[in-house]
Amino acid sequence: MTVRSNGDGGPLGCHDCGHDYAYIGVDPHPGYCPACGSRAVSPAGAVRLHRHDLEAAAPPGGEVHVTATDESGRDFRYGFRLLDRHHATLVSVRVAGRPVRRPPQGWSTDLLPPVVREVLDENGLSSTGAAESLD
Ligand SMILES: [Zn+2]
Repeated sequence: MTVRSNGDGGPLGCHDCGHDYAYIGVDPHPGYCPACGSRAVSPAGAVRLHRHDLEAAAPPGGEVHVTATDESGRDFRYGFRLLDRHHATLVSVRVAGRPVRRPPQGWSTDLLPPVVREVLDENGLSSTGAAESLD
């Protein structure tokens, strides 16, 4: 299964059931999976940065979070573990307050909306995905 981030008409993916689908329309898609009804699907429409705690400069091993909101009103919270002062690994994703099951191959940074990448960049961090194996 592939899960993709989206905001501009590309394919959408459901984190819960793995359903990949397309949405054709002028408005942002409604933010529900048509197969299982889950809200843990790709962001809808423009994604705005909501908040982050990157300035907290947690020590290596610590976790920081970036939250962004899409046009369907869902919060996407991305958790990063700091490897050192300049590198962070994506370790958790929550959509609308609910943790999303981690894919067996680990999280891909392809999931990150551009606004999240930008704020990491502004804070001198680059993100890597799937740096560790599960369990
Ligand atoms: Zn689904």
